Amino acid sequence: MSDFQEYFGETHSMVRQTVKKFVEREIKPFVDEWEEQGAFPRELYRKAGDAGILGIGYPETYGGSGGDIFVKIAASEELMRCGSAGVSAGLGSLDISIPPILALGTEDQKLRFIPPVLKGEKIAALGVTEPNAGSDVANIRTKAVCRGDHYVVNGSKMFITSGARANQLSCAVRTGGEGHRSLSFLVIESDTPGYSVSEKLKKMGWWASDTVQIFLDDCKVPVENLLGQEGQGFYGIMQNFQNERLQLSVMANMTAQMALEESLRYAREREAFGRPLSGFQVTRHKLVDMATLVEASREFVYRIAAKIDAGMDQVKEISMAKNFSCMVSDKVTYDAVQIHGGFGYMREYLVERLYRDNRILSIGGGTQEIMKEIISKHILP
Ligand SMILES: Cc1cc2nc3c(=O)[nH]c(=O)nc-3n(C[C@H](O)[C@H](O)[C@H](O)COP(=O)(O)OP(=O)(O)OC[C@H]3O[C@@H](n4cnc5c(N)ncnc54)[C@H](O)[C@@H]3O)c2cc1C
Repeated sequence: MSDFQEYFGETHSMVRQTVKKFVEREIKPFVDEWEEQGAFPRELYRKAGDAGILGIGYPETYGGSGGDIFVKIAASEELMRCGSAGVSAGLGSLDISIPPILALGTEDQKLRFIPPVLKGEKIAALGVTEPNAGSDVANIRTKAVCRGDHYVVNGSKMFITSGARANQLSCAVRTGGEGHRSLSFLVIESDTPGYSVSEKLKKMGWWASDTVQIFLDDCKVPVENLLGQEGQGFYGIMQNFQNERLQLSVMANMTAQMALEESLRYAREREAFGRPLSGFQVTRHKLVDMATLVEASREFVYRIAAKIDAGMDQVKEISMAKNFSCMVSDKVTYDAVQIHGGFGYMREYLVERLYRDNRILSIGGGTQEIMKEIISKHILP
């Protein structure tokens, strides 16, 4: 992966090295403890900010280090190597909450809301999903009513990653009547009176990341916090989804890659009936199928990323890639646990966590079924 020159060059190798060192020093020694505790220290944001990791791929004007789409992919791949997708998702919540600000915000808003997050001083979260509107984004009910110099916001946001300690929420709200044309984006700061969060929700995986429900009760949000124009929210949400789907595809591929590596190692070490597991043809063939799927999925995602970077429309393809990479990671993590036998069911083995953490990938950022709806509209217009 790292020496593949068509997509990755010297800059990407340097980025990989930086993130790798950070992961080895600041995350890996503590990650099992954080998983069991259900949280990583807030200080990790600051450390990642200081190491320049949070700014990778973002414009230099706002404190980032710039770069093409593959610097971000290289960084995400190395971060996933920490072995906890929860840490990756928690540290990476800025990657779903900053893009709407970049896409719709004014220069003033960008300078106000982006640099503190890239420095790790502030935490950013994205609030789109609601208790009654997930896939059906156009049905969002959180209402923002304009009262002169501020909006009064009422509603609630569900399953918000990093929501327990986020300082700012890029929040989709309804500023008019029914339908997707009345959706808008507001940046809501968590110290706004009326803003409150639930207890942390208990999850199947991603244990180290916090996920909460956020309540907005007569929150007064200055009109200066409206991103773009009223009614541009749906466009912002859809733009953001493309980016999120690419990131989730990369996460799925890395999950599968690590499950494969663990399985290759285990199959060589573990003996049964007087020979290593890798001595059974059925195991060897299983590993071959896993390796083939991982390779194909990674190449597919890289190819689409290159086309996105070249400015090509890839809505259909990125939906296909998300579904394909998740199908691959579903199969590969399942087989990895199978190869590990009873040990694969034990928490001290990485494949156990990979298997659990993987399950959200075909749900978050648009479910497998919604991806198929999007693809079908392209191939059956
Ligand atoms: C750990 C975690 C972290 C998350 N982080 C965030 C976050 O930071 N910010 C945020 O805004 N959201 C977040 N989400 C929410 C996530 O994006 C939603 O869960 C997802 O979009 C699905 O919405 P839903 O859960 O309401 O499911 P629903 O939309 O209720 O779907 C339920 C089922 O019905 C199917 N379905 C729905 N509509 C159709 C249709 N038209 N055709 C066929 N099948 C359909 C779905 O595919 C699914 O299988 C997170 C979720 C989790 C679990």
